[in-house]
Amino acid sequence: MIENPDDPDLLLVHAAASEPDVPGDPGPVTACGLGTGEMIKDPWRPAGSGQRWYPQALRDRVCLQCDKAVRLS
Ligand SMILES: [Zn+2]
Repeated sequence: MIENPDDPDLLLVHAAASEPDVPGDPGPVTACGLGTGEMIKDPWRPAGSGQRWYPQALRDRVCLQCDKAVRLS
């Protein structure tokens, strides 16, 4: 999920688990506990298991809490 997509200085990439009832749709909160309602869903998907969960181009904008949560899961 992308937070503040219109402001490059504030843009952050968060991870959100999929909604169980709607495969492919993100759940209501990110891994770090933020609501996803105001965020933009990025169409990017990992190429496979073991790949990074965020797009290479946005690696400097990754939410550290989400990154940690994803690595531990
Ligand atoms: Zn986050």
